[in-house]
Amino acid sequence: MNSEKDNINVNWNKIPEQKPRTFSGKWVYALLILGITALFFSNFGHSNMEEITWPKFKTEMLLKGDVSRIDVVNKESVEVYIKKDSLKKEKYKNVSSGLFGKTLNPGPHYYFTIGSLEVFEQQLEVAQANLADKDRAIITYNKRENWWSNILSWVFPFVLVLLLWNFLFKGMGSSIGKMRSSLFDFGKSKPEEYGSGKLSPVTIKDVAGYEEAKTEVMEVVEFLKQPQHFTRLGAKIPKGILLIGAPGTGKTHMARAVAGEAGVPFFSLSGSEFIEMFVGVGASRVRDLFNKAKEKVPSIIFIDEIDTIGRMRGKAISIQTNDERDSTLNQLLAEMDGFDPNAGVIVMAATNRADILDPALLRPGRFDRHIYLELPNKQEREAIFKVHLKPLLFDKKVNVEFLASQTPGFSGADIANVCNEAALIAARSKKNAIDTEDFSKAIDRLVGGLEKKSTIISLSEKKVIAYHEAGHAITGWMLKHVDPLVKVSIIPRGKSLGGAWYLPEERKIITRSQFMDSLCMALGGRTAEEIVFKEASSGALDDLEKVTKLAYTMVANLGLSEKIGCISFYDSTGVSENGFQKPFSEATGQLIDVEVRRIVEEAHENARNILTQHRDKLDQLAELLLEKEVIYKEDLEALLGKRVKEITESKNHQLLLTE
Ligand code: ADP
Ligand code: ZN
Repeated sequence: MNSEKDNINVNWNKIPEQKPRTFSGKWVYALLILGITALFFSNFGHSNMEEITWPKFKTEMLLKGDVSRIDVVNKESVEVYIKKDSLKKEKYKNVSSGLFGKTLNPGPHYYFTIGSLEVFEQQLEVAQANLADKDRAIITYNKRENWWSNILSWVFPFVLVLLLWNFLFKGMGSSIGKMRSSLFDFGKSKPEEYGSGKLSPVTIKDVAGYEEAKTEVMEVVEFLKQPQHFTRLGAKIPKGILLIGAPGTGKTHMARAVAGEAGVPFFSLSGSEFIEMFVGVGASRVRDLFNKAKEKVPSIIFIDEIDTIGRMRGKAISIQTNDERDSTLNQLLAEMDGFDPNAGVIVMAATNRADILDPALLRPGRFDRHIYLELPNKQEREAIFKVHLKPLLFDKKVNVEFLASQTPGFSGADIANVCNEAALIAARSKKNAIDTEDFSKAIDRLVGGLEKKSTIISLSEKKVIAYHEAGHAITGWMLKHVDPLVKVSIIPRGKSLGGAWYLPEERKIITRSQFMDSLCMALGGRTAEEIVFKEASSGALDDLEKVTKLAYTMVANLGLSEKIGCISFYDSTGVSENGFQKPFSEATGQLIDVEVRRIVEEAHENARNILTQHRDKLDQLAELLLEKEVIYKEDLEALLGKRVKEITESKNHQLLLTE
């Protein structure tokens, strides 16, 4: 049945940026040729030379008067020339003929190495003392450069150091390709380019959603296609466009789409590649990148992770020196100022932290146009799903809207991942098409790590987990200000033993009551354990961490504690991130700690009240969980009645997981 193979067609080619850098054979060939030449040259002179020992040389050749000349090379080896007449002797037949067996071998015919020149000269003198003059051998001295071994001895340590460097800086996983490029091309930028022939295969059509952003970038596309329309009227097109958004929101995708749509070459480099290992490389890479792009106008330069070079200068206290970054940034600024805005080079850059960028980068004439790519809302997710479903073979019953509703908070990259994962799951169970179940599994997998049914959990442990999750569920159900629960599970996933999924509403502002209720619900799991088993377990680590962080945020950053008042120690510039000093006094610090404790205790108390009040429901829910392992909103409704607050359809929510 090869239909399965054809049907489940995962389109690997969709993601052009993942094209592996192929290791070009050029270097191998060059090295081979070099090696062969070296061998050839080093053997050429003595194609037909045999090694011999001193005693043998002395008794069989020297004392027989067969030696015409002794050539001492570099004071360390001796080459022996046999007289022409003597070569005819039987014992010399191995060395008598020349390179191709025709001519007479002109010599040297034998060689041996000596320990010390003086000793050799003495021995030779003694040995020849009784020889007739005509039989004596002439001694010559010769200095020969073996430049191959010289070069090797120079180059080898260098290569070794470079390799070591590469190894240390690039980590163990560096591929040969990478090694090659960093060894031989450092200083040069390595922009991948889609020349006009094989353009960036992505076009605006492949970018789903983001209508506003697309309108804005289409302007750039128009300019790249027909600059005269704009320049005729004296308009200036922005040189630099900054794409701002969380990882996976499709910033690279968008830049590629602009290049693809306009049909211009696309030069891309990641900020971290600028600052690599050699000082001064960053600046020259910037120069190189811009030169390349200028040769091919109109063109697009894309700099990913610009925050790695564009961080605010001079403020951060950092152990690492920032000189390299500064010079790279300065070069970038100089390049951006240096070209005519209408020259046809447009620089696009991506970051997820626009707030830490150096203001100099954002000045007019540089990256003055900002495009925000937020996480997609439900309709946008639906559109993104459609883009990524296109190359897949899926069951017609799959409801794309349902998929979108199941994936709140997913980025475009996550959705692409879900689609691929679903295809893999379907292929694994040899299905003819991907169905809803496969998609659900893929989504679950992404939300909570891999589902591991095989993890063995004892029955008593399972009971604790069931009560823990039931505690979260009951508190969540009874509280007014927390998000609706959609699913509770005690199947272990990844490192967590169970989970409660709820569907947060979209909101930009969170009130104090909402914070308090979240704390209460997060503590619900542990509180249930306390009530039922009279002792807590280690299973609430994640909950407690979340609670502590949330409580400190409330008190220290959001001014939600009356004792501290309207004061925030939050630092949006990120400058004091690695500072060593707290911006508040010892006394305030203590007050913050006390307030945090009070708030958490209040939430804990609340959870205790709710759970003791609904103890019967808690037991029932835990039972149900033990039996079914996964329960959904409907089961909860059947058991607990309609929730105080109904789910309202919201736009941009994130599926949260309490473990
Ligand atoms: P970023 O650069 O913001 O981290 P990428 O551009 O690398 O994100 O996005 C990763 C992948 O996610 C893209 O290759 C694309 O397949 C997918 N993707 C992201 N956003 C979208 C979108 N709006 N429409 C279609 N695919 C998207
Ligand atoms: Zn928990």
